[in-house]
Amino acid sequence: MSAVIIDGAAVAARIRDELAGDVLAIGEGAAAPGLAVVLCGDDPASAVYVRNKGRVAEKLGIRFQLHTPPASSSTGELVALVRSLSDDPAIDGIIVQLPLPRHIEPDPVIDAVAPEKDADGFHPVNFGRLAEGRPSLVTPGTPAGCMELMRRYDVPIEGRRAAVIGRSTIVGRPMALLLTNAHATVTLCHSKTAALPAICREADILVAAAGRPGMVDATYVKPGACVIDVGITPTVDGLVGDVDRDSVEPVAGWLTPVPGGVGPMTIAMLMRHTVSLALARRHTAPV
Ligand code: NAD
Repeated sequence: MSAVIIDGAAVAARIRDELAGDVLAIGEGAAAPGLAVVLCGDDPASAVYVRNKGRVAEKLGIRFQLHTPPASSSTGELVALVRSLSDDPAIDGIIVQLPLPRHIEPDPVIDAVAPEKDADGFHPVNFGRLAEGRPSLVTPGTPAGCMELMRRYDVPIEGRRAAVIGRSTIVGRPMALLLTNAHATVTLCHSKTAALPAICREADILVAAAGRPGMVDATYVKPGACVIDVGITPTVDGLVGDVDRDSVEPVAGWLTPVPGGVGPMTIAMLMRHTVSLALARRHTAPV
C-alpha cells in the first residue's frame, strides 16, 4: 500500500477560485472586503508570510492594508493601532502577524482585535466558541486548512481515533478542538507525553505539529492512517516537515507532503475567513 498524497496546493487553488466569485459579489474597489495586517519587527519568515498574504488577497480583489509599526513599538502603541483598525468601518478582517518582538505582550494586542474582524480566530471570544463547540465563522487558519483537506479527500473523522502532536494555540490545541467537534476521539500530545509512538500508532488520524523535522516515522503510524504534516523547518535543502516521508508513505492511507500540503491552505483559509467576516458585517450571511 502507498499513501494517497494530499495535494494542498491544488485544493488551495480551488478555494481561491471559489472565493474570487464571492469577493466580486460583495463589491469592487472601496466596496471590496478589506484585510489589514499588522507586521511589527523584522522577523524574515514573517515578512515572507505577510508578502504572500498580500499577494493572494490582491489577486482575489480583497483590499489589503499593511501596517508596519517599528520593532521598538510598545505594547500600548500596538494595542492602539489594532483598536483603530477594529474601529475602522473599511476593515473587515485583521491579522496580527506572530511572533511579535519579545518585549511586546501578545495577549493585549490580540484582545484588541474586534472578535467580528478576527481573521485568524485567535481572539478569546472566537477561541472560546471553538472550545465550546459552537458554530463560528473563524477558526485558526492552519488547523482549519487541515480539516478542509481531510474533508475534500473524504477522510473519515466521526468515531475515529485521532492524535495531535503539539499543543500550541496556533496549531495543536485548535486542531484537537476541531477534531473533537467533528466527533473524533482525540489525544493531544506534547513534549512531555510518555510513550508517544504507541499513542500515535492507535490513531486513524495523526497530525504532526511539533516543528521537529522527520520525527514521525513508520513506528508512529497505524497502517492506513491519515497523516497530516503541519511541521515546517527551513533547511539548506528546503522546507522539511515533521514526517519522514520515505518511511511513512508506504504505511499511511493519506499523507500531506511538505512543501505543498498544509502550507498553501493556511492563507486560503485566512482569505475565506476575511470574506466570511465581510459578508457577516454586511448582513448578507448569518453571524
Ligand atoms: P510551537 O513551538 O509553538 O509548539 C510546538 C509544540 O510541539 C509544543 O506544544 C511542544 O510541546 C510540542 N513538541 C515539541 N517537541 C516535541 C516532541 N519531541 N514530542 C512531542 N511534542 C513535541 O510550534 P507551532 O507554532 O505550533 O508550530 C509547529 C510546527 O508547525 C512548526 O514547524 C511550524 O513552523 C509549523 N507551522 C506550519 C504552519 C503552516 O502553515 N503549515 C503554520 C503554523 C506552524
